[in-house]
Amino acid sequence: MSLDNKPVYTGGCQCGAVRFRVEGALTNASICHCRMCQKAFGAFYAPLATAPEGGLSWTRGEPKRFRSSNHVLRGFCAECGTPLTFEAPDGIALAIGAFDNPEEVAPTVQWGVEAKLPFVDGLAELPAHDTMEDVGASDFLADLVSFQHPDHDTNEWPPAEKK
Ligand SMILES: [Zn+2]
Ligand SMILES: [Zn+2]
Repeated sequence: MSLDNKPVYTGGCQCGAVRFRVEGALTNASICHCRMCQKAFGAFYAPLATAPEGGLSWTRGEPKRFRSSNHVLRGFCAECGTPLTFEAPDGIALAIGAFDNPEEVAPTVQWGVEAKLPFVDGLAELPAHDTMEDVGASDFLADLVSFQHPDHDTNEWPPAEKK
């Protein structure tokens, strides 16, 4: 919460070159199955939530944009490629997975269902495993060191040990 009791959200890309802050309530938390969102996210669908007007600020760096249509820009980190925004004339939506606490932004609606991939509805039924269950087959996991930016704002980027 901010000083005037607005909800506050932070987030950013995987490498940390781009960070954002949202003050105020998010709206239209959704997933979009349309073919353009599949491509832009390299994923089965895009999770997006709309920032309140004037409530979004870029606190480190800024996304590079691709104009995916005459009305829409897609923002992403130019350093690491993380998809970050869907920018339309009626507002800017942010990729839910890029938030520091994505569990706070549950989608409430689906769009673009005409392009929904046929296996998406069955994903929750697939066999399920923890990451570390795979150590036997992929022994690099045992001493893996993450270079992903942590899920909170930081004072310095890039981190000192990586400069
Ligand atoms: Zn990045
Ligand atoms: Zn879409």
